[in-house]
Amino acid sequence: MTNSNHISKRVASLKPSLTLEISAMAKTLKQQGKDICSLSAGEPDFDTPSFIVEAAIKALKDGFTRYGPAQGDAELREAIASKLSLTNNIPTDSENVLITNGGKQAIYNLFQAILNPGDEVLIPSPYWLSYPEMARLAGAKPIAINSSPKDGFKMKLKELEEQITSKTKLLILNSPGNPTGRVIPRSELEEIARILRNHPHIFLMSDEIYEFLISNEKKHISIGEIAPDLQNRTFIINGFAKAWAMTGWRVGYLAGPVDVIKKTIALQSQSTSNVCSFAQRGALAAIQGSRESLQIMVNSYNERRRQLTEGLNNIKGISLVPQDGAFYAFPEISKYKLDSLTFCKLALDEVGLALVPGIAFGEDQCIRLSSAVSVETIEDGLKRLNKLVSKLID
Ligand code: GLU
Repeated sequence: MTNSNHISKRVASLKPSLTLEISAMAKTLKQQGKDICSLSAGEPDFDTPSFIVEAAIKALKDGFTRYGPAQGDAELREAIASKLSLTNNIPTDSENVLITNGGKQAIYNLFQAILNPGDEVLIPSPYWLSYPEMARLAGAKPIAINSSPKDGFKMKLKELEEQITSKTKLLILNSPGNPTGRVIPRSELEEIARILRNHPHIFLMSDEIYEFLISNEKKHISIGEIAPDLQNRTFIINGFAKAWAMTGWRVGYLAGPVDVIKKTIALQSQSTSNVCSFAQRGALAAIQGSRESLQIMVNSYNERRRQLTEGLNNIKGISLVPQDGAFYAFPEISKYKLDSLTFCKLALDEVGLALVPGIAFGEDQCIRLSSAVSVETIEDGLKRLNKLVSKLID
């Protein structure tokens, strides 16, 4: 077909996810025999712990292969509700929980269920790149609340207040954050809650997908715990992909007020139906099982985050805000006088290093590197980066 009118207005300007695109491209180049080092994907390099795999295999063998409730299996929802109630101190019932195809679908469904054309969504920047696209897909307008590397990427609360209008429908929080690795401290969450109390028309979405990937010095705190009085407008996003190395399983969840959850169930029942039945059994084993393997993975990410940070701090011209969580580094590259896309293109062309340009996350002065790769790959990546910047500085 040559006529572009067949593409809906809704998706005409929709961009594919650059994080997924770059990591897929790096894999293809490697398969073609090119010498590529990829620090692009935000994906655990561990295999899913075997007790989880075995639970899913058992479910398959037990005939757990049919349609299930669109909302998700009752046992899994109950286990998630109990985790939120007991670990996060957010009183939750299983009816408050929707199981989704990864955290991504939880966000997508929530946006479809609460956003109307013209609504404004406040997104602290740098942000994970799918938030603004999903807001646009729901007809809403993403509004970035900027922060700078100089302030350690702390959102300016004054700017947050200034950006609130009668059209503001939703504020997004993401802690530990992608791409900055920033963990929002309790005092700041309290301030944010205070601001929201003055604006009862604003909903809150807290994306806590990196909850467990946090340095030993920090503790994950959910705004849901801090502001129980906001519970009737707070939504929690989480999933199994990052903490339990289950990216391909696609199991995430949305937790929040029942009236909205009901609408997201209707949406899911008319679109994707239940999440893969035996994958949910794997997730149930994960959430109910021992945290030993999770802790081993977290310790390893912490170690590699330190390795990447140290290596980047030794590269001339790079400056880095230390990260407390997730598995990314988001250093500033403005000293090289290149925009982030040009820098990443040069990195790939000149030294075979795949990185994600900061512009994809709303910050053109930075690049994102993942530390969820082997120690050797981090070392190799740092060498390549060093080689590139020594050419740029010459
Ligand atoms: N969230 C990960 C990342 O930022 C995986 C890719 C994606 O879903 O965007 O790299």
